[in-house]
Amino acid sequence: MSQYDTGKSIAMPGHRARKRFGQNFLQDDNIIRRIVAAIAPKQGEHIVEIGPGQGAITTPLLASGARLDAIELDRDLAAWLQSRFADVDTFTLHQCDVLKFDLASLTTEPRSLSIVGNLPYNISTPCIFHLLKYQSLIHEMTFMLQLEVVQRLAAQVGDDNYGRLGIMAQYYCQVDHLFDVPPGAFHPQPKVTSAIVRLTPHRTQKLVATDTTLLQDVVRTAFSQRRKTLRNCLKPLIADIHPDDLPVDLSLRPENLSLEDYVNLSNTLSAARQEK
Ligand code: SAM
Repeated sequence: MSQYDTGKSIAMPGHRARKRFGQNFLQDDNIIRRIVAAIAPKQGEHIVEIGPGQGAITTPLLASGARLDAIELDRDLAAWLQSRFADVDTFTLHQCDVLKFDLASLTTEPRSLSIVGNLPYNISTPCIFHLLKYQSLIHEMTFMLQLEVVQRLAAQVGDDNYGRLGIMAQYYCQVDHLFDVPPGAFHPQPKVTSAIVRLTPHRTQKLVATDTTLLQDVVRTAFSQRRKTLRNCLKPLIADIHPDDLPVDLSLRPENLSLEDYVNLSNTLSAARQEK
């Protein structure tokens, strides 16, 4: 028997998957085992699961002896999960929207949370940006996402999928694309391939932006018009600065700058604002 035996999968009787909540439930025990092995839950560890659904990974995670806070928006599933795990005292359910959930209400201990989830695809990008606000509390995040989103998270300068999501995720975290998951692993089946990604917040920040809000503004503004030159798309942010004082070539496009270039540019703009 595997270390991460899933036990018997139990589905909520009569539940029909709700498209508006991005419900595609895992039903392949091998894939569930691989995901749980990637998470490698430990006794006493503090896990937060986003969208437990019908508990496909919740059950083996709890079996490890980890403490688990689950965040589920669907009221019917939340009520069912509550009764299913009623006698598990390491299980706490929060029936709410993860995008409004304050992770800091769970702990003040740095790097103590392991966040996991087969994320609802319709909110995966805002969900990652929301969680990055709490990166100092997070030890690691392991997610199932659309393959295309995982490729964007891991993209390097020069890749087709390179943009805001990858730059900001890589500013805060090491990104590892672990493995792909075919549509047949779910019910109902999604139209696209999924993938498992691990985001590990940097223990020591290699690149330091003096103002992370400004870094986000610079990256967002640049990629809002990714086909234009930096001179054009960054106009609102660089109007008061002589081009020779900027650390980047303004004739380039947003996709040509590395994360380090964006941090340098943001720090130069931040210093110029301080001098005013
Ligand atoms: N973890 C389960 C599995 O793997 O079978 C379900 C995954 S399903 C793709 C996504 C889950 O997230 C659903 O249970 C859905 O109800 C829940 N969900 C959708 N939007 C949510 C939100 N904003 N906050 C919390 N949970 C949400």
